Amino acid sequence: MIGSNPAIWKVNPSIRGVVAELLSSANPGNPVISLGPGDPAAYPHLFSKGREAFTEAVASAVSSRLYDSYPPPFGLPSARRATAAYLRGVVKSCGNSREHPVQLRESDVFLTVGATQALQAVLTILASAGGNILLPRPGFPLYESSCELAGLDRRYYDLLPARNWEADPTQIRYVADARTLAIVVINPNNPTGAVFSSHHLLQIAEIARDFSIPIIADEVYGGMVFGGGRFVPMASFAHLAPIITIGSLSKRWMVPGWRFGWLAICDRHGTLQGVRKATEILMNLNPGPASVIQAAVPSILSDANAEFHENVLAVLEPCMNTLFEGLKKIKALRCHSRPKGSMFMMVEVDTTLLHGIESDMDFAKQLMKEESVLVLPGSIFGMKNWIRLFFGLPADLSIDACDRMNSFCERRMIRDGW
Ligand SMILES: *Cc1c(COP(=O)(O)O)cnc(C)c1O
Repeated sequence: MIGSNPAIWKVNPSIRGVVAELLSSANPGNPVISLGPGDPAAYPHLFSKGREAFTEAVASAVSSRLYDSYPPPFGLPSARRATAAYLRGVVKSCGNSREHPVQLRESDVFLTVGATQALQAVLTILASAGGNILLPRPGFPLYESSCELAGLDRRYYDLLPARNWEADPTQIRYVADARTLAIVVINPNNPTGAVFSSHHLLQIAEIARDFSIPIIADEVYGGMVFGGGRFVPMASFAHLAPIITIGSLSKRWMVPGWRFGWLAICDRHGTLQGVRKATEILMNLNPGPASVIQAAVPSILSDANAEFHENVLAVLEPCMNTLFEGLKKIKALRCHSRPKGSMFMMVEVDTTLLHGIESDMDFAKQLMKEESVLVLPGSIFGMKNWIRLFFGLPADLSIDACDRMNSFCERRMIRDGW
């Protein structure tokens, strides 16, 4: 037998693996309703208007034949410039940066194959023997596996349901140590639906400053905020600590298959010069996104598409509310706080109320078997006896899913006196 890299065997089960396993046990008599993975492109009700502009931009890049050659290693200058301008605009419009205007230039932006390549590149670049990364818990499984592959240890800080899923800064300071290389912040948050306040982001930036480490700011859901909330990009605090911002077209522009993302280095004090050089070397080895998608990016990121984003939020928020209200009526489930952004929420399962359900995995499996409703067990995200739900389904499907979950729980309810 020829061996293989043991790090690959150690990585946690992926979302895809668990979904495949759950789907295979669906009740054949009942069509599946999926509250599992959130591929936004699979839900056309979310973007009824305005996405043609993206498709047309790519189509004209293809038919121009101007982009048939290899793109430059860090990305087409026009696309890097447009991404830098977009990110500057986001910082500016949040209104936090008047005293410390952000200076992101074309040369600070590297174009990547989705946010996935961006975060894998960052973790590979920062890795050093014995070093660790601070990750949020619940978290996003890709960080777990990418750290494993890069040979990095993990430390966790908890996102707290009782605090609207913000963290306790004292705990972050407590788990950080001299070998901590960076703090990962996912905001708006997958899997919790949290949107961090400006004050909370400031607290985290102060910790990074005190430990002289960068923040990896995963802002894949940047701007996907409801209910009058506000998205504050971490780069607004770049005067305190270096910020490496990660983003992509996958969620907010709803074209995950186009595999376009970025990493942007915001380094006011020049402490990331080595990291920048290493990024250049790595991106020279690992080619980025397809040239024709890059060529379309200036038009996709332009302000002309503001209405598209407003429409998406106007559809997504009532979808979220429908699901949230439906879940609140199910006794064995606890929704701690109404999501404020992203496309996901975490719900606690009170297994002590349910016959034959010992864990979140039991819950997900039995629910699939009996009711064909797909939810993801929270243990994939580091939280036992919780489940993660995608909240962007059309209202009628959300209502149906809640009815089925309610019947499932009622059938298994342990009542007093039994
Ligand atoms: C989806 C997602 C990613 C990966 O994004 P891609 O652009 O599809 O590679 C990264 N981080 C979070 C939090 C995500 O939800």
